[in-house]
Amino acid sequence: MNRKILLPESEIPTHWYNIAADMPNPPLPPLNPQTHEPLGPEALAPLFPKALIEQEVSTERWIEIPEPVREIYTQWRPTPMFRAYGLEKALDTPAKIYYKYEGVSPAGSHKPNTAVPQAWYNAQEGIKRITTETGAGQWGSALSYACSLFGLTCEVYMVKVSYEGKPYRKLLMNTWGADVYPSPSDRTAAGRAILEQDPNSPGSLGIAISEAVEMAAQSDDAHYALGSVLNHVLLHQTIVGLEAKKQLEMAGDYPDVIIAPFGGGSNFAGLTFPFLKDKLDGTSSVRCLAVEPESCPKLTRGVFRYDFGDTAGMTPLLPMYTLGHDFVPAPIHAGGLRYHGAGVLVSQLLKDNLIEAQALHQTECFEAGILFANTEGILPAPEATHGIAQAIREATIAKEAGGEKVILFNMCGHGHFDLSSYEAFLAGNLVDNELPQTEIDASLATLDTPQV
Ligand SMILES: *Cc1c(COP(=O)(O)O)cnc(C)c1O
Repeated sequence: MNRKILLPESEIPTHWYNIAADMPNPPLPPLNPQTHEPLGPEALAPLFPKALIEQEVSTERWIEIPEPVREIYTQWRPTPMFRAYGLEKALDTPAKIYYKYEGVSPAGSHKPNTAVPQAWYNAQEGIKRITTETGAGQWGSALSYACSLFGLTCEVYMVKVSYEGKPYRKLLMNTWGADVYPSPSDRTAAGRAILEQDPNSPGSLGIAISEAVEMAAQSDDAHYALGSVLNHVLLHQTIVGLEAKKQLEMAGDYPDVIIAPFGGGSNFAGLTFPFLKDKLDGTSSVRCLAVEPESCPKLTRGVFRYDFGDTAGMTPLLPMYTLGHDFVPAPIHAGGLRYHGAGVLVSQLLKDNLIEAQALHQTECFEAGILFANTEGILPAPEATHGIAQAIREATIAKEAGGEKVILFNMCGHGHFDLSSYEAFLAGNLVDNELPQTEIDASLATLDTPQV
């Protein structure tokens, strides 16, 4: 029985994998929000360091991980892969279930994989302060940790419903020295405009991004950092899939299906892109499945068109699956999945039918999370339960079909700071929000961004 598959430190990848080098249809360019003309990389210069802008537009297949970043990675990488014997037994399935566990990082999720290089490149270019948004607080804590490593100040706009519901995530950020504000706040024009319309706004990732971008754009020594969606973020996360490939090879297996929860696409891309490379090379027919919440279903019920990454319309226009940048999802507990759009790379791959998407209700996900905690011992983040629930569905299908199947999913974070959502579930207070089509239509009807 080989429950835990471990790589030695010397096997930490030396390069990230850039899928842009291998996509049959490269992603469409970002557009200037005013002129709708394609936007050059220089437009991003007020917000990001040069090195990250280069990665954002790069078509190099392999991008070297700086040695100081690899050194910091050794604190929690390579992360373990587990064969889920306990879960398999409970499901009585012939399927083999593996999961890559990213909850062993200092912040408890995959997010430090990109927070550390982002903070490092900013520090290299003399930046003193980084602003950002956070939903459930996973990204905010990862960036707070990364900034503390390099003496940078971190300013976090935290979606108000999470700020109020997850005080310990906020305190974790404070402990790493960050300043945290509930969003919408009265510190920015974007925040004040929302508060004027709706003083009780629960906030959204789109609104919090507007606030963080506005603050960074105002000062020379400040930059902005995003925890998902952008190409360079997805690139950094490929370290997860590159390790996973080596680990499955050690176990003598190759996945039939890879599953990951989906907020903006970073943990999904991180685990799947190195395997998708095999599919693009024609040597594998692996299915890659992104799982989103039913109450924020951009991949399964959104449209593919240009849209803003934020609510106030300050970012470049990006070609992506979107529910519209004004869409405010119901305040479900998987706060990290409450984003209106999807990363450009993932959107293009879905458009080209190279990946699949599925939407699930939160009670099914929490039930899966509790089964997982009782069979594998680890308490998953509410976001991560989406991957577990879909893995259970796939294992059940395998059982009914009576066939072997190798399932790999991303256990992208632990839920130690999410116990109030488990409290709500255990008390029977968690409901499934049906999202009427009229609500999606209404949000999309107000979109005046260009079609692709
Ligand atoms: C942020 C987060 C997500 C969603 O973001 P992606 O970029 O889609 O990965 C999912 N799970 C956890 C644990 C997160 O912290």
